[in-house]
This record gives sequence, structure tokens and C-alpha cells, in this order.
Amino acid sequence: MQGLMQSVPLLISSLLAHVERHHGDADIVSRRVEGDLHRYTWADCAGRARQVARALDAQGLPFSGRVATLAWNGYRHLELYYGVSGSGRVLHTLNPRLHADQIAWIVNHAEDQVLCFDLTFLPAVQAMHASCPTVEKWVALCDADRLPAGSGIPNLVSYEHWIGAQPGRYAWPDFDENSACGMCYTSGTTGHPKAVLYSHRSTVLHACAAALPDAMNLSARDAVLPVVPMFHVNAWGLPYSAAMVGAKLVLPGAAMDGKSIFELIETEGVTFAAGVPTVWQTMLGHMQANDLRFSTLGRTVIGGSACPPAMIDAFRERYGVEVLHAWGMTEVSPLGTLCTLKRKHLSLPRGEQAAIRLKQGRALFGVDMKIVGSGGEELPWDGKAAGNLLVKGPWVVKAYFKGEDGDPLVPDAQRRGWFPTGDVATIDADGYLQITDRSKDVIKSGGEWISSIDIENIALSHPAVAMAACVGVFHPRWGERPVIVVARKPGSEVTRDELLKFYDGKAAKWQIPDDVVFVEAIPLGPTGKMLKTTLREQLRGYQLTEAR
Ligand code: ADP
Repeated sequence: MQGLMQSVPLLISSLLAHVERHHGDADIVSRRVEGDLHRYTWADCAGRARQVARALDAQGLPFSGRVATLAWNGYRHLELYYGVSGSGRVLHTLNPRLHADQIAWIVNHAEDQVLCFDLTFLPAVQAMHASCPTVEKWVALCDADRLPAGSGIPNLVSYEHWIGAQPGRYAWPDFDENSACGMCYTSGTTGHPKAVLYSHRSTVLHACAAALPDAMNLSARDAVLPVVPMFHVNAWGLPYSAAMVGAKLVLPGAAMDGKSIFELIETEGVTFAAGVPTVWQTMLGHMQANDLRFSTLGRTVIGGSACPPAMIDAFRERYGVEVLHAWGMTEVSPLGTLCTLKRKHLSLPRGEQAAIRLKQGRALFGVDMKIVGSGGEELPWDGKAAGNLLVKGPWVVKAYFKGEDGDPLVPDAQRRGWFPTGDVATIDADGYLQITDRSKDVIKSGGEWISSIDIENIALSHPAVAMAACVGVFHPRWGERPVIVVARKPGSEVTRDELLKFYDGKAAKWQIPDDVVFVEAIPLGPTGKMLKTTLREQLRGYQLTEAR
């Protein structure tokens, strides 16, 4: 017997219709590329998203046709999020920090037909447009009078002209909730990038789970600032979750420096922000240097790479902001786990609570996870056994778009597919996940694994250290030994020997790095994470100064 409830598809357009009807006057504030602040409401956004849909109809772009964006977090980008997906096309967010050749490769692979870009990225578009034959229309996200003359880009229009001619009346179409709504390429540190193709259903379910109290706890009382870019796994789903709950949205545009972000938080009364650790590092540096305090910020989600304990401490103890440490990846939409305490933890001493908060947290409802050994055997949830992390769920990838690499899932005993994340983790008896490494970053010394994250976190607790990356270098006896690459805080001093001594009593002797390499800055990848592949490349052939 089937249930007798309505079968209403979960569509991106339903989020917009909801926020327009119930929270139409909630604000959306964007810092524009031009530098000024733009303000309007969710109702205004919905009207213009309908104009986007009409413009795509007028162009004859088919269902599932791809519309790419090269854009910062801003209101026009948000309108594309809803107008493109809501009308049945696929929004393809490109990462502008990639090289123009890589972007062109991705555009061709995705067969994008329209490409919308912020003027900041005009040089990249000029460099690549000739090698993107599938793109029929280039849209500059600006007013008609700012359209660059003599750019050499064919079929170039300004966004305002493109949508301006369209009426705001449009009925969002109904279709199968499993249709594709968006795509995002992984950064492709090995080989070509791979495309994850999200569906309406996966995106709406993810937005719902992300908003829950034990996840991001979002509501109509929040002002949400996604510092994480809208080209980095859909800003972790925040443009969707914010609409679902009717939150105010604050979009930082291109101004990602600590001073601008801090000012935006203060002037717009931001209560909730999200970003990768490197972004917060700069903001905390700015606040410390200028003795600043937050007046409204209550929570921040930090993920994308391990959040150093020193950062969690600074936010909590110095600034009174709760840090929610989260784990996710492009293939998981991205949220898999988020760290909040359970009721039984509330009576624990602060130190023990702090130790739990360092972990990446518990699985959201919908995400199933397990850790397995090298033979595929499931490992215990004892907080000690570390193994390869596998996940599955309704917002976890099943196969890559044009999946040349075949099925990425591994069959388990019940023949149900699990996605191998490439991360190494422990899970404790309460279900708290702790990432110890990426499988390719693990350092194997004399057959034992050393967690590069642990070694980095100790370095980061030294007051003179701004950033630290631990990588393995060849050692004739041990196979590999850890070396810590360190960027010092401006004006701070610490020597190699002082830093190595700092490890005494904080790590087992055999885990202490063999050497320290000081650098001006640690190279960062397109999503703001430390590029360990580049560091390993730079340290190839590195001779350890003292054999252990
Ligand atoms: P990429 O880093 O390759 O661009 P993603 O943005 O999808 O791709 O990153 C996913 C990876 O980032 C995860 O597999 C994991 O290694 C790492 N990661 C994400 N969040 C955390 C976290 N909180 N702690 C440690 N590692 C994390």
C-alpha cells in the first residue's frame, strides 16, 4: 500500500517561492565589484531571477543547458543561482582562481553555452573565449554603460541589458526533482578535474539538513555571511539554506581581506559566517592588530581544511564566537559532518568539551559513514583506529559527469555503493569523526602513520607561527620523515631549534618533525587551502640536516 500524500518535487524554485512569499522583505546586501554596497530584498531577487529565466527562454537554451559563472559572492550571482536552476538549466560555477587554460578545459568539458562573469575576470575571459566554441553568449555582470568597449569578445552583453528587456512574470516549471540543477568541478590536484552534478532533490535535502539546529542552526533571525565563495561548492549551500529559513544574506563580493570582512560583519549585523581557516586567519590578525571586538557575530562554520585549535580558542575565548567545525567535500554537496556537543557533554569540564569541538563532528541525518582498513574491513568506532573514510547518502556523488573514470563507488558486503572520500579518519563511540589526514598527505615513517594535521596544529599553537604545513620527505631509513614548513607572523621570531623543542611533550618523539623550513608564505590553492602538492614538489630531493 502506498502512502496517500502529495508527491511534490523538491525543486530549487520552491526555495525562492517560499522566501519570496514568507520573507520577501528580508534584506540581501552585496559588496559590488565597483566597491559600493548594494541593497535589496529577497522579493527583488525573486523578480530578477524570473527575468534571468525569461532571458534564457528567449535565447532558446534547452532544459539542462549549462550556464557558467565566473563570479564573486553578489546579488547578480544569486539571481543566476535561482534563475538558471529554477528554469531547468544547470548552473555551473567556475573557480576563477584557476588558470585561464584550465577554465577553458572545464568550460569545454561541461559544454557551457552561456558564461556570465564579473568584470574582475575580463582578462581571463579575453584569454580564453577563443578556445570555448560551445559558449554562444558572454554576459558581463554589470550595467549596460559599464560594458567594456573593444574587448574583442563576440556576443558580449551586459547582464542588466540581457535581463532588462524581460518581464518579471514567469511561472517556475515543474519537473523531476532528480534533474540536474548545478555542477561543480573538483580542484583536480591529480589529473583533470572531475564534475559533480547536483540534482534539485540533493540540493534541497542538503539545504534542509544544513539548517537544522545541530548543524548550522539557521533561522529568520540570522544575518548570514558566506565568506566561502559561491564558486566553492555553492558556498556550502548557504544561498539555499538562507532562502529556506528566510535569513538576511550578506555577500562580500571581491573584498575578501580581513578589514573588509570585519567591517561588513559589524555594519550589517552579521550573526553567522562561514569560511575556510585561511580567511579567518587574516581577519583574526586584523582584529588583534587593531584591538577590535565583534558586536553581533555568534557562530561561524569553519571547514574545508582542519581548523587549528588555536583558531577555535581565539574565536571562543577572546571573541565569544562559537566555532562549528565541519567536514565536507565537493562530492558531498559539501556538508558531511558538523561538530556540536551532545546533552551529556554539557556537564564536562571546559577542557574536555574543547577536545570534542576540535573534531570534525557528527554526521548530518542523511549521511552514513564508516572507516575501513586497507583490506576494506570495517574498523571500530573507538576514536583510535584510523582508516579510509567512506560515505553515502542522498547528497553524495554516485558518478561523475561524463565519468570517464568509471564508477567511483566501492561496493560493500551488501553491494550498496559507498563513496571513498580519500580522507583518513577516526570515529569515536559517540559518532564524532576526526580527520587525521588526506590519504595522499599521510606521512609514513618506518611503517607508522603520522598525522600531518596533528603536527601542524602543534606548530600553530606557537605564538610566532602564522601558517604551517607538514609534509613527508624521503628518508633512506624510515621511508619518509615529517618536515614542517612554516610562515612566521610578521614581526615575530622563532628559530628552527626553538620550534622543534616546542614539540617536546606535545607529540611522541618519533612524530616530531626532523626539520623546519621557513618560507615567506605557504602556497594556497584555488579554494584557499594549503597546496601540499606544490610544497612536496619544492622539497623533492631535500636533504635532512640531521639524521634521526
Ligand atoms: P579540494 O580541496 O580538492 O578542492 P574540496 O573542496 O571538495 O576539494 O575539499 C574536500 C577535502 O577537504 C576533504 O576531502 C578533506 O580532505 C578536506 N577537508 C574538508 N573539511 C575539512 C576539515 N574540517 N578538516 C580537515 N580536512 C577537511
